Amino acid sequence: MSAEPAIPILLYHKIGRPPRGARVRGHYVSPGLFRRHLTYLRGQGYESIPLAQVVGSDRPLPALPVVITFDDGYRCLYEQALPVLAEFGFGATVFLVAGALGDTNTWEQAVGDVAEPMLELRQIREMQEADIEFGSHTMGHPHLTALPEEAARREVVESRRNLEDSLQAPCLNFAYPYGDWDARVRDLVAEAGYEAACTTRRAAARRRDDPLALPRINIRRYNVTARFAYKLWRARRAGS
Ligand SMILES: [Zn+2]
Repeated sequence: MSAEPAIPILLYHKIGRPPRGARVRGHYVSPGLFRRHLTYLRGQGYESIPLAQVVGSDRPLPALPVVITFDDGYRCLYEQALPVLAEFGFGATVFLVAGALGDTNTWEQAVGDVAEPMLELRQIREMQEADIEFGSHTMGHPHLTALPEEAARREVVESRRNLEDSLQAPCLNFAYPYGDWDARVRDLVAEAGYEAACTTRRAAARRRDDPLALPRINIRRYNVTARFAYKLWRARRAGS
């Protein structure tokens, strides 16, 4: 192991059971399984840290740091994830589709998926009080590398402004929709003033990583605790 600690950044989507017709069932982690994941983390001695402590910070890290992230900002996070996180004393970062607050997952329905309600502003406010921070996941969840430069810039810049206005808090974290990014998109994210950006590259993060291309560990429905533990172990071990 290198002296530099590995920092697993976990990626969840939905906490709940997949409804009939759900296209990506793997994105639904049941509340019971989510609770077992957090039980495992706490039992091992993991402490959750904010993304800002991963990058651009000299703040010492706990012996076993972990960052818990959720992409898209579904309403089930308020109903199912928030109470469990609070019970275990874990913080988390939620990446919001800024144009979809209080609406539904139109970008998923466009490809035949079931409608899912998204977080409303008042729920987000309540979550802010409970140690949940929010970042941008663009305005409308596009494939950023497929957009012309000006349109991609708007997605990145407007979502930050929009969220800072609504949430009355700095929005310094970003997650690339579909993990879709390249050097041009990364530059737009840098230019917009974000300090950390998450991809879907599979590994644990290290402080030496590019802060605008942080890897994550995708947690799925089928990741029973043993599999979850193995994924953490494998990610921490890789690149050490
Ligand atoms: Zn997403």
